[in-house]
Amino acid sequence: MTTIKGGCLCGAVRYTANAEPITIRACWCRVCQYFATGNASLNLVFAREAVAVTGATTDYASLADSGSHMHRHFCPTCGVQVYSLVDERPQLIIMRIGTLDDPSLAAPRGTIWTKSAPPWALIDPALPRFEGQPPPPAPKPGPG
Ligand SMILES: [Zn+2]
Ligand SMILES: [Zn+2]
Repeated sequence: MTTIKGGCLCGAVRYTANAEPITIRACWCRVCQYFATGNASLNLVFAREAVAVTGATTDYASLADSGSHMHRHFCPTCGVQVYSLVDERPQLIIMRIGTLDDPSLAAPRGTIWTKSAPPWALIDPALPRFEGQPPPPAPKPGPG
């Protein structure tokens, strides 16, 4: 079985995923630019039940450009944003590629919210792109 491990910078928050990600993508929505220091956020989308998280997090709730109610969970000690939950999609959990023990596992497969990206953004021309929010992924591993 696939096991993917990760956590925050200080190690207080850890997680284990026991499934392949449903999708992996870069998000250029305006809110992600705040969290990703001006760049796109880089995310793995898993089935919620596939990921076990240990350690206390701080939840920052916000309304996304898509209209979804996001909950971004941070380590209160080191400030790293480890994962997000979405009220409208409770079957999913979104982990940040930068929190993987081995980020080389997770090449993005697409780019979303390109209409919010600044003109200098580097967007991989080889990957599928969406101007806004794509349809939700099915809660099982897909081919791409
Ligand atoms: Zn931490
Ligand atoms: Zn985003």
